[in-house]
Amino acid sequence: MTITSLALLFFLAPSTQDPVQQPASRPVARQDAITAKAAETTVRHLASEKFHGRQAGTKYGNKAAAWVAQQLQTLGLEPGNKGSWFHEFPLPYDKKGKNVIGILKAKKATKDYIVIGCHHDGQGAVNDKAYKPSADDNASGVAAMLMLAEYFTKHRDKLETNLAFVSFDGEELGLIGSRYFVSREVLPVDRIRFMMVFDLIGGRFFPWDEDRLFVMGSEFSDNVRAIADKQSQKRPMQVDLLGTYVLEPVGAIAARSDYAAFRQARIPYLFLSTATPWYYHTVHDTADGVDFGLVAKNTRYAADVLMEIATQADRPAFKRKPQTNMREARIMLRGVKGYLEHAQDIRLPKQAIKSFRQHRDLLEKIVQKDKLSSRDARAIQQALLACFRWVSFTRNYKKR
Ligand SMILES: [Zn+2]
Repeated sequence: MTITSLALLFFLAPSTQDPVQQPASRPVARQDAITAKAAETTVRHLASEKFHGRQAGTKYGNKAAAWVAQQLQTLGLEPGNKGSWFHEFPLPYDKKGKNVIGILKAKKATKDYIVIGCHHDGQGAVNDKAYKPSADDNASGVAAMLMLAEYFTKHRDKLETNLAFVSFDGEELGLIGSRYFVSREVLPVDRIRFMMVFDLIGGRFFPWDEDRLFVMGSEFSDNVRAIADKQSQKRPMQVDLLGTYVLEPVGAIAARSDYAAFRQARIPYLFLSTATPWYYHTVHDTADGVDFGLVAKNTRYAADVLMEIATQADRPAFKRKPQTNMREARIMLRGVKGYLEHAQDIRLPKQAIKSFRQHRDLLEKIVQKDKLSSRDARAIQQALLACFRWVSFTRNYKKR
């Protein structure tokens, strides 16, 4: 047995077995599938030495894919690629990546799908001994996907559409797995109603912040935005809806996660992330740095949004020309003010303080208006770029 958590011993099959060889079993799902404990078990496992950073195309990456497939099989899902749990695709240097696909069929006969995605590949080895655990990026997203797979096995009878749980590979090498998944039509693309993707959901981009989730993509569907908005109310956390453009200052070519290929195929999507804290893509992205309670909260929000979308009769319409929204300016103003408020604690250089003051003054002017111009949108992107630029200083932040 390779799984350390005692709680999971009752639930999961040993990871040494080949998921394809193992007979499909349908164990009784736990009462509460979405918990901090469940999130922690997955994150600690995937961030462990055993997976050595899960780089795509390496034996460790393949091991991670096999483990995810096995979890989906244990939950009683069906393999999603013509009887296989895997979708192989080419990577640079003659290597191969492996997406993992598990299907939860609605009881009602339907050909439509909702894709619930994450990526399991990570930053890989630094050398023979050291590796980047890639815990928040993105073992936390895998944990969310697996908890949702378990959660929805208990709600199959309500579903109007099938659910496809997909863990992409090769994300860190340029969103390769998700691009192949869409272009090769592993699932018929015109049958995908909606996709949701998780990438880093257990951290704090602003370490002084309360529990907060950024939700991007709702600008492409009025129906999805209404649901995402409604579900963000009455939460023990903040949910900030942001236009995806805020993260893409050089345009869609520099998309930040696996939503890109789906957006290009005009599929409505939501990209859920707590963003990229100071440890992003370093050896410091460890399981100990992940807030498992936050992962569970974020996943519960996702479950409620997905439940609404998966139980409605109609598919959400895709809006080709999304609009900017004034709250994007307010969200970035709050971020910039946070830096200024904590400038001393985090030993922010003078140059940075000066820059953040300029961003603050500009954003304050913008929020006075009632409509965003394209120049204002650019200013919002620039404010986020400043936060990215100085994020390494936030590691100095100490909670008092
Ligand atoms: Zn990622």
